[in-house]
Amino acid sequence: MGKPLNLIRGVNMKRIDDLKNVKTAAIGGHMRPDGDCVCSCLALYHYLKKELPGARVDVYLEEPPAPFHVLEGIEDIKSEFNTDETYDVFFALDCNDERLGDALPVFRRAKRRVNIDHHISNTGCGDVNIIETEKSSTAELLYELMEPELVDEAIAKAVYVGIAHDTGVFRYSNTSPRTMQIAAELLKFGFDFSKLIEETFYEKTYFQTQIMGRAILGSVRFMDDRCIVSMVSRRMMEFYCVGPKDLDGIVNYLQGVRGVDCAIFMYETGTLEYKVSMRSNGSVNVAEVAVKFGGGGHVRAAGCTMNGTYHDNINNLSREIAAQLGWESTRRTSKTQQ
Ligand code: AMP
Ligand code: MN
Ligand code: MN
Repeated sequence: MGKPLNLIRGVNMKRIDDLKNVKTAAIGGHMRPDGDCVCSCLALYHYLKKELPGARVDVYLEEPPAPFHVLEGIEDIKSEFNTDETYDVFFALDCNDERLGDALPVFRRAKRRVNIDHHISNTGCGDVNIIETEKSSTAELLYELMEPELVDEAIAKAVYVGIAHDTGVFRYSNTSPRTMQIAAELLKFGFDFSKLIEETFYEKTYFQTQIMGRAILGSVRFMDDRCIVSMVSRRMMEFYCVGPKDLDGIVNYLQGVRGVDCAIFMYETGTLEYKVSMRSNGSVNVAEVAVKFGGGGHVRAAGCTMNGTYHDNINNLSREIAAQLGWESTRRTSKTQQ
């Protein structure tokens, strides 16, 4: 048995207890929002509307990927950030303030800032910080903060999809017994979970499938095949009519190659600028690598943005990865042995 439920909820609710007088609340998440981010924002949106019936609740997020349009409330998300509004409270979810993008000034201006996240690299950017790194997802963490009687089907769906996305559909090691317990509680609402996961997680457009194939075909192994890397350029994205949102999942596929400890995937975001995604089987702490280059994440999944040529970026990343793996090239080893 884990910790008694009501105790966790009691303690955490106390930390954000002074929400009673809130008239305007805003919710935001990270740039290029993923499933956990979109769903956490929606879950909290539905929840706050019930918990604070007199308040106006706004959600600020970059346009969510198309498959999430099956979720209730998605149409209320504001992707236009230039507002002068000073909110009574702003919730930053699934990230620290640096990744809020254009919503950052709105967050900074808010009278009270709450940061709810599960990233190991997040030191907390709010007046109230609820950072629990053992949680699979921000969606799971939020669910633990909610009063059970206020959870309805729309919230349940959002929490379920959020957890499913950050756990690779309950596959990654961040899935705990409690995660499964929560999933079971959520399924009792009776929604079609199978269809939801198929539509938001597995289904890909033809072009998404093509670019994934192209990226896999172009992948290269190095460091005695313990690492694998692939890159998608802006020209490739133009050719296949895809954008950054269409590249999700490629890095996980690379990590699935037998014998690979660490997978790196990059796509070009500008001149000599790449968004880097890393995954590991646990033998490399990729969050530590990402933090060295101004990013962050989790031990097994992390990311950052890097400037420089593709090859320079690989060199810089592999230096850090090699140090963690205690790997030395045969050439270097034989030289030192001479
Ligand atoms: P991604 O590779 O973008 O799917 O991200 C993997 C994990 O690392 C996710 O939990 C992200 O939220 C996190 N992450 C990615 N990029 C960054 C960044 N620049 N700073 C902090 N965390 C990041
Ligand atoms: Mn996220
Ligand atoms: Mn997350």
